[in-house]
Amino acid sequence: MSRLTDYLLVISFDCLSSLDFPIIERLPNFKKLLERASYCRNVETIYPSVTYPCHATIVTGRYPKNHGIVNNTLLQPGRLSPDWYWQRRHVKGTTLYDEAKKAGMKTAALLWPVTAKSTIDYNMPEIFANRSWQNQILVSLLNGSPLYQLDMNRKFGHLRNGLNQPELDDFVLASTVETIKTRKPNLMLVHFVDLDSQRHYHGFSSDEAMAALRRHDERLGKIINALKESGIYDNTTIIALGDHSALDESKAVKLNVLLKKLGFITVNHDGKIIDWKAYCKSCDGSAYIYMKDPNDTESQQQIEALLEELVKNEENGVERFLTSSEAREKGADDKATFMIEAKLGYYFKEHFDGEYIDEIQIEDVREKRYTFASHGYSPEKENYTTVFIASGKGIRPNIEIPSMHLVDEGPTFASLLGLDLGKTDGRAIEELLDLGVSS
Ligand SMILES: [Zn+2]
Repeated sequence: MSRLTDYLLVISFDCLSSLDFPIIERLPNFKKLLERASYCRNVETIYPSVTYPCHATIVTGRYPKNHGIVNNTLLQPGRLSPDWYWQRRHVKGTTLYDEAKKAGMKTAALLWPVTAKSTIDYNMPEIFANRSWQNQILVSLLNGSPLYQLDMNRKFGHLRNGLNQPELDDFVLASTVETIKTRKPNLMLVHFVDLDSQRHYHGFSSDEAMAALRRHDERLGKIINALKESGIYDNTTIIALGDHSALDESKAVKLNVLLKKLGFITVNHDGKIIDWKAYCKSCDGSAYIYMKDPNDTESQQQIEALLEELVKNEENGVERFLTSSEAREKGADDKATFMIEAKLGYYFKEHFDGEYIDEIQIEDVREKRYTFASHGYSPEKENYTTVFIASGKGIRPNIEIPSMHLVDEGPTFASLLGLDLGKTDGRAIEELLDLGVSS
């Protein structure tokens, strides 16, 4: 395969929605990018539409069931802060960055999910210290490229304020600009979380979310300037994309409260889970129900009867439930016995104490117990698509792709770099590629 570009820069603006398109096309740097870009305003995301599965899909072109990243966090019943799918080893099969590296290209990634302990040349992985004895900087260093991260932390660490936004994205931006100028990677993956974070804590259309869009526009401008100053702008393909949208919520549904009442979850006198037969694992807007023993048909039938009752009344917050084969058809984890979808305005939490449904109060959100907006919903929900913008080397200008799917992005990137991702669930969007065929 021939290569269409020398440098591919993929910028993921987490939670960038189709509904944001009319806003960003008026912001100066997005506007400039769009002048010679091709794009799709309506990209269908995957199920469950949470960040880690989405980002694994973007670099593999496969559905969660096929790349193995079926949720943000691992199934660890009762753990208040479960581990995330941080490490590359969780991804089944090859990835865009592995193929780029094999082809001798220089690779870099900044806070790109599920890349910890990968072979990316310059890697600052997204990983949180979630044990009380862990130190954030040390955890990051050991899971990515130590010398590179030490260099970035020494130069820009003062911009950070823990994991808080917008400071974290400003640190990522400064590191991105520096990496472009000093390392010139052929493939660079950058993940910004400011918008997603503001939407979670302030709501989809909040002033805070709109301010994040404006900050993202400035970040885009600074990255483009860095490419120009480095003399590689004309040889670079710039991609700006989102992974999913978000929907506002006012109620939290805690199915494990019912599972505990019905004896499927056993707790000790300290309220800690000591055993479970069935457990509801949240993906925010949707959730999996796992059975410890998948052959426990008696429990399975009881839970199915419970779900049938719940979906009858809208106020229970469960819009519908899927069997494991139906979940598989949608690309989700078929190891779950059931998958449930939240009704608009609701989302799922794993708590097993208190009431089945909690009304979300502002104090809950301030103290980060609950959020005002979430991802994770079914791609079939209305107004829930994301965007894909491609511009520069290897891209034909001004083509609007009416619709595409998140699984098409990986194969499109592979075509740009002349790489092969093997068997994917998507296709390269050749309509927007400048294949150099002269007429
Ligand atoms: Zn996300």
